[in-house]
Amino acid sequence: MTTQNGSLECLPKIKFTQLFIDGQFVDALSGKKFETIDPRNEEVIAEIAEGDKDDVDLAVKAARRAFDNGPWPRFPASERRRRMLKFADLINQNVEELAALEAQDAGKIYNLVKLAEIPSAAEKLRYYAGAADKIHGSTLKMSGQFHGYTLLEPVGVVGLIIPWNFPSHMFMMKAAPALAAGCTMVIKPAEQTPLSALFLAHLSKLVSFLNFKVYMIDTFVTFVDFLQAGIPDGVLNVVTGYGHSAGAAITSHMDVDKVSFTGSTEVGRLVMQAAATSNLKPVSLELGGKSPFIIFDDVDVDKVADISLSAILYNKGELCVAGSRVFVQEGIYDKFIATVLEKLNSWVVGDPFDPNVRQGPQVNKKQYNRILSYIEIGKREGATLLTGGKPLGNKGYYIEPTIFTDVTDEMTIAREEIFGPVMSIMKFKTVEEAIKRGNASQYGLAAGVMTNDLNIANMVSRSIRAGIVWINCYMVFNDDLPFGGFKMSGFGKDSGMECLQGFLQVKSVAMPIHNSPW
Ligand code: NAD
Repeated sequence: MTTQNGSLECLPKIKFTQLFIDGQFVDALSGKKFETIDPRNEEVIAEIAEGDKDDVDLAVKAARRAFDNGPWPRFPASERRRRMLKFADLINQNVEELAALEAQDAGKIYNLVKLAEIPSAAEKLRYYAGAADKIHGSTLKMSGQFHGYTLLEPVGVVGLIIPWNFPSHMFMMKAAPALAAGCTMVIKPAEQTPLSALFLAHLSKLVSFLNFKVYMIDTFVTFVDFLQAGIPDGVLNVVTGYGHSAGAAITSHMDVDKVSFTGSTEVGRLVMQAAATSNLKPVSLELGGKSPFIIFDDVDVDKVADISLSAILYNKGELCVAGSRVFVQEGIYDKFIATVLEKLNSWVVGDPFDPNVRQGPQVNKKQYNRILSYIEIGKREGATLLTGGKPLGNKGYYIEPTIFTDVTDEMTIAREEIFGPVMSIMKFKTVEEAIKRGNASQYGLAAGVMTNDLNIANMVSRSIRAGIVWINCYMVFNDDLPFGGFKMSGFGKDSGMECLQGFLQVKSVAMPIHNSPW
């Protein structure tokens, strides 16, 4: 499908547009559909089934049956591992098609998705597959005549609600640990980007004849398991549709045992409310951010300018951890600005399938208008527009990389999440000032500290209230590195063993050591 220079010869045909419930692709009960739009040209890519409350209920019932009576939670953990590894292989085998779906649906850079994001989604399955057979509780001495132990059991039916900025990546960030734990699930992709989730659902079920298993039932009878080589029916369901209907139906459902949500802080509040007023299900929330990127005088300005541009422009700024508040120490302030401006001269905005392009279109018209309106607010409130600030082209949702200087901490563009290619640069003098201003945000998702002074690096990283702090790097993620915010950026972790724990619950068992004393 790809040519030698990495560009795409033709777009893949859209094969999956229906809900995926109990192992089958089905229409929404209402028969309704919604359009998913190509942000490059504003054209309709496909019509997608619009699931709502009734479809969510069907999906939850399927997941409940699969949890209560199905094989998935009862498999030896090594069997869950084997199937997850197969699922991961299938993702790698279909990397080009998945990447093309994401580039077309979300405006993401095709080559980056193909080389990094889709392989990383497969790696998440492998990481948690490796953990599936290492889930165990502890033995407790207790006191007196009793001893006890703990069992780590899957939480049950989980609702996984994901945003549009990293569709496959977020899908697996949540589905992989839930699968390893033995949970069953209903996944709701964002309405802006449903295509890759449906393709992943299709892969979850695929039978691979290279990957069958022979069970020895007794000495003479063996059973070759071809047909159930994938993730069993009902374990992984995908309901496409809108947040206020399908999403809200998951969060308020009485038979969903946990919700893991990634999205805006505003909707995170609604998720918590719905959980509280339904069955008190636990929730984990990965929400918005306004992350400080703090640069001290002693750095290599050229190198740090590159990092700072990626920190705000990767994925066209539609990045929860975007380093959007750039604090620069006064000694290098002018040099930093000149270097960043020079680097932007070779920054290409355009079609995400073009291998020379670094920045594609914003995901949809709403997001495009929202970013442009923040740029207007920045100008109105007195910030200096150093570069960019305008839409690009006549078609599609392209916006110039934009830099504001003379930004004060009180300005709207320094406080609110823009979720677009807009950097605010601010000058500071001392370490204490940088920490204080870096922390002056309702959010606490991420932070960056650029310095060669170990004392400063330690002091700042320990003082910043954020879930992740990068020193002399940015956006370095790993499946082993827990990720999640402080303050109004949410709570609970994605990635790492902490995330797996969130899909497990502890059961304590106590018993007499000898015959019961009663
Ligand atoms: P959003 O909150 O509008 O939507 C996220 C998901 O929630 C979508 O699937 C949507 O359909 C669903 N939803 C909307 N209303 C709902 C409701 N009432 N009940 C249940 N579900 C509902 O967010 P978005 O615009 O898709 O994504 C951008 C936001 O996500 C930004 O704020 C960004 O910072 C945040 N985000 C955070 C992280 C993180 O890990 N912290 C990662 C990516 C994005």
